[in-house]
Amino acid sequence: MIQVEGLSKRYARTLAVDNISFSVAKGEIVGFLGPNGAGKTTTMRVLTCFLPPTSGKVSIGGFDVLEQPMEVKKRIGYLPESPPLYPDMEVGEYLTFVGKLKGLASADVPKRVDEVAERCAVADVKGKLIGKLSKGYRQRVGLAQAILHNPDVLILDEPTSGLDPKQIIETRELISSLAGDHTIILSTHILSEIEHSCNKVIIISKGKLVATDSVANLTNRLRGTEIVAVEIEGPQDVNEIRQKLEQVPGVSRVVLKDSRDSRNSFEIESLQGESPRAELARAIVNSGWNLNELRPMGASLEDVFLQLTASEKKQAA
Ligand code: ADP
Repeated sequence: MIQVEGLSKRYARTLAVDNISFSVAKGEIVGFLGPNGAGKTTTMRVLTCFLPPTSGKVSIGGFDVLEQPMEVKKRIGYLPESPPLYPDMEVGEYLTFVGKLKGLASADVPKRVDEVAERCAVADVKGKLIGKLSKGYRQRVGLAQAILHNPDVLILDEPTSGLDPKQIIETRELISSLAGDHTIILSTHILSEIEHSCNKVIIISKGKLVATDSVANLTNRLRGTEIVAVEIEGPQDVNEIRQKLEQVPGVSRVVLKDSRDSRNSFEIESLQGESPRAELARAIVNSGWNLNELRPMGASLEDVFLQLTASEKKQAA
């Protein structure tokens, strides 16, 4: 659905995007992750035909952004970081205006406006002035305008930035509910955003692509180790348990997290490429202790991100 090959974008002396390539398949939700200034907005502006690439090729649904921008725009809904809203317009009036602007047939506009207002949970404020809405509502009106013409692709720039925690959850749920019908790229500098909403992640740093993979693969590939949380009910002497766990083949590190009422919680890190979960369970049970919990934790995306961008940071320092 989205093909980016060797894309670069230069603003005067700044090379904001430096030869990046990636593709996004139909129906995927992709997180575009990178620190501020990494080049996320610039890439999104090229994808949505707001800026021409300096070099490289970008196509959406088979249409080139330079050669057939009208075809590309028909297929794209864009929510910029600050949505293009008119504070003096009422929500319904604004969505009707955008619908006409996007070339919907006049007869279809009222029905479509009602549909998207319902979908984006702004139907109850259709008669309100946009300028009087809370930030969460404004963001949802922004999403409603982005999906009005039912585009194949949605490009969302920092869709939850500046929202309070409740609004963040509501917006995330809305984005997830749109996923089945649309291919989505959302940019963020917040790691948890990706873990919540996306099945694939593209990481850029200083204009360069540093990784692209599924969220699960990325965490596993980079760490190659597994962390398991266990809770064991056993002897008073925690060291006895620790020693037993350390002897299990494939275990590299045992960290005591909590200990009370003879319930002991540990995090156990495996050696590279090892998965000692079954061995751990056997060792605990064979010692006559209760195994209350055994839960794989995986590496956090935060660790991965820091690893990937560490070399860039060191160079900058
Ligand atoms: P992000 O969205 O990841 O924060 P941007 O794409 O906004 O990153 O910016 C990437 C780089 O390009 C930054 O160094 C930024 O200062 C620069 N930049 C962005 N827009 C412009 C512009 N209009 N003119 C000059 N430099 C720009």
